[in-house]
Amino acid sequence: MLKNKIQTIIFDVDGTLTDFNSWTRINQELDLSPQKHLEIFEKMKEGEYSLEEAKSKLVYYWKSSGNADRKYFIKIFKNWKFDQEVKDLISYLNKKYQICLISGSIELYIEEVALKLGIKDWYANASLVFNDKGKLLDIDYTVDQAEKKLEQAKEYIKNYGFSKDQCLAVGDGENDIRLFSFFDYSINKGCQELNKYAYKTIHRLDEIRKLL
Ligand SMILES: [Mg+2]
Repeated sequence: MLKNKIQTIIFDVDGTLTDFNSWTRINQELDLSPQKHLEIFEKMKEGEYSLEEAKSKLVYYWKSSGNADRKYFIKIFKNWKFDQEVKDLISYLNKKYQICLISGSIELYIEEVALKLGIKDWYANASLVFNDKGKLLDIDYTVDQAEKKLEQAKEYIKNYGFSKDQCLAVGDGENDIRLFSFFDYSINKGCQELNKYAYKTIHRLDEIRKLL
């Protein structure tokens, strides 16, 4: 039984604990169309833009909204609410297991998520760099999110002395692939690409209760 083996659960955030992608939602808040964002991302993948160029394009568009400052980011992240169901589930799991968040999103946001859900340990992929007046200057971002998540998970389990088979990873996307292939136990929230690596596939987050 999974529940007898597991001591810690590592959750992805975007699409797993929430039903939205935080990058998409930031774009909405800062008036950047999904098409424009996708175009930047695709051009970077195809090598037309370097990472630096892609980041500076994104920063440029976000700044054009007039809102790309630290205070505004904090305000929007505080305003994004969780479903009560998710809060209840995490508080239930928190009593039985140690929980950690490992996300491809932005530090300021994941810090807020961890605070709202009462989770002590968290890692994020990207951080926003502000000047001393709080205006956005740059985004510190690692392209290979899957590898970064794995490195962070290894650091987390090493810090607490967990063995690989005491961990359960829960995720929903391609950036969880390395975690899923590393850990013995993982739960896939409905992602086709993760099926073959997953211990179990679920379609609603709440199905975890039955397994744990
Ligand atoms: Mg995800």
